[in-house]
Amino acid sequence: MATIKRSLNNRTCEAPYLIFLGPPGSGKGTQAEKLHQNFRLVQLSTGNLFREHIKNETPLGLRVKDILAKGELVPDDLTVEMVMERLARPDTIMGVVFDGFPRTRDQAVALQNRLDEKGKCVTAAISFQISDEELVERLGARQMCPKDHSTYNLKSNPPREEGKCDLCGSPLIGRDDDKPEVVRNRLRVYRQQTEPLIEFYREQDMLIEIDASRAIEEIEAQLDEWMPMFIQGVNE
Ligand SMILES: [Zn+2]
Repeated sequence: MATIKRSLNNRTCEAPYLIFLGPPGSGKGTQAEKLHQNFRLVQLSTGNLFREHIKNETPLGLRVKDILAKGELVPDDLTVEMVMERLARPDTIMGVVFDGFPRTRDQAVALQNRLDEKGKCVTAAISFQISDEELVERLGARQMCPKDHSTYNLKSNPPREEGKCDLCGSPLIGRDDDKPEVVRNRLRVYRQQTEPLIEFYREQDMLIEIDASRAIEEIEAQLDEWMPMFIQGVNE
């Protein structure tokens, strides 16, 4: 059962800014997409932002392209700069879901500082709680077609005929990324990075935990139920 651990602070912001925290496979991307469909929140993923800026050859994009070409990590200040530029566009008026950013405590602090300067703020950080065992099982159920790369999940989205691609009939394969030992290793890295981030938001009474082991529809219903609180929270 999901619970709101603490009440939300009185924060005065013009629209809900929600940060989704959760490991790969926790379903946070799916739920961010739902909030976009149901409440017109912008789904803000830094990966997509990077790609967009690089494609459009903006000044920020050219810098990022350079950095990535050298095999280096994009520095936090540059990432936050792109995020701020995205937040300044008019379609964010209904609010934003941050999906996959911030990833570290440093990034969270940088984001917070820049939002403060603009009189904006994060409404809540929602942590998608799910055990490593459940994730290993979930990701292990993923299969793909080696020919056309269509993807399946034995639990949630099985092919019509067992082990065969719906489109071309090729035998389906598991992905190396989804092997239990690879998943466990990825989760170890993720948890190390993210624990301090979760603590950061907990310290500021911004953290809300949601049980992400449940069905997609149940989690969606829970978020729908919370939305008035997020919208009210920012308009008080
Ligand atoms: Zn196929």
